[in-house]
Amino acid sequence: MQALTASGRAGVPGSPPPLRNRGWLTGLVQLGLYLLGLGALAFIPILPPGLAGIPVFGPFLCIAVAVALAIPFNRGRAVMAACGLAFVYSLHLARAFVSPHAFLLGAVLLPVDMAVIAAFRERGALSRHTLRQALVLALQVGFAAWLVSQGLWEALLGKLPAAWISGAHALPPFVLGTVAVAGLASAVVMWSRRTAIDAALCSAVVATATGFWMIDIPHGLPVLLATAALGIAVGVLQDAHRFAFFDELTGLPARRALEERLLALPDRFAIAMVDVDHFKRVNDDHGHDTGDQVLRMVAVHLSNVGGGARAYRYGGEEFAIVFPGRSAREAVPHLEALRAAVAGYVLHLRADAMSAADVDRPRPRRRTADGLTVTISIGVAERDPRLDQPDHVLRAADQALYRAKARGRNRISR
Ligand code: GH3
Ligand code: MG
Ligand code: MG
Repeated sequence: MQALTASGRAGVPGSPPPLRNRGWLTGLVQLGLYLLGLGALAFIPILPPGLAGIPVFGPFLCIAVAVALAIPFNRGRAVMAACGLAFVYSLHLARAFVSPHAFLLGAVLLPVDMAVIAAFRERGALSRHTLRQALVLALQVGFAAWLVSQGLWEALLGKLPAAWISGAHALPPFVLGTVAVAGLASAVVMWSRRTAIDAALCSAVVATATGFWMIDIPHGLPVLLATAALGIAVGVLQDAHRFAFFDELTGLPARRALEERLLALPDRFAIAMVDVDHFKRVNDDHGHDTGDQVLRMVAVHLSNVGGGARAYRYGGEEFAIVFPGRSAREAVPHLEALRAAVAGYVLHLRADAMSAADVDRPRPRRRTADGLTVTISIGVAERDPRLDQPDHVLRAADQALYRAKARGRNRISR
């Protein structure tokens, strides 16, 4: 793979643009759900008798919703985490029939396993890899059951220092400690990945951990397990939304988001179509990975375009920019600044990281002493009585783009 660093006169950071630019929002939604779960505890004692079953069956219902969403959306970690919740909730319901030691082991294992699941790489819901991961977890549960049945777990507990076993809380300090460490570990995973599913899994670990901390509060564990399952379901939906509406490579909103935007534009607006010049040659001369880096770089500039505009990845190396409330003439200075910023930006290729194929190829079209530069062509059009539909304006902008190409590229046409 060809490594590439970027620096630029335009002052754009060299690293790729943030791919998960809505991470804070997903985190906030998860935090809101968690707080709602805690708040719901206050309402359970005042539920009418007809709804008394909710705290008992609610967790299973939420878990079923999470699984029903995670399977079609192909999110294996979400399925595994939801199954873990179902297992521990069953153990909790059967607490009168299983030994307290068995429940204790479940209380240690669930948050730890949830953190381990969060750290797994996503491999899809029903793939061979996910089934293998699930099998390892199931074997571990089987081994735990065997430890309990043989009295080995109880013997092990007997060997732990007294301070680890007994405290003021209903659960021993070593369980609470393990649960807290699992919560922290999943927070680290979430921070490093920052996707909706990772935020949901982290929130599920924290909710589960809180549930165990609240074990002696009536319905504390079931409500927090239900919260964890709902968080997973919401995370799956947020993830699916991101895939549908955001472009993974550039982090820009995708064509589908553009189509939604076109439905709700004001009476006055302009649309620009942007295309990277001779981009096929960039791929041919430097490789596809460098081509991807170029698209990311262009996307950073596009996302900084002024005039209240929003940029979208239209497809391939083509982008669309929507200027609500502006005419084409008003959009041009912003587009000109964009064109100049891209043309003036230098991508530095690291010679030591170039592939053999690159060494053999003829030098690229525009490889300066500093690195690689690219240009963009832009076509812009506005709404007028003749072009009164957004898709007509978009088509007119596309035709203007072809004129910009025909006139020599690296320019704007109206
Ligand atoms: P022009 O100046 O006329 O626009 O020429 P061009 O070479 O830019 O246009 P052309 O349509 O011939 O080539 C576009 C290329 O963009 C072909 C395709 O392989 C490449 N491409 C499309 N999407 C991606 C992508 O996501 N990553 C990379 N690296 N290349 C892509
Ligand atoms: Mg093109
Ligand atoms: Mg092109």
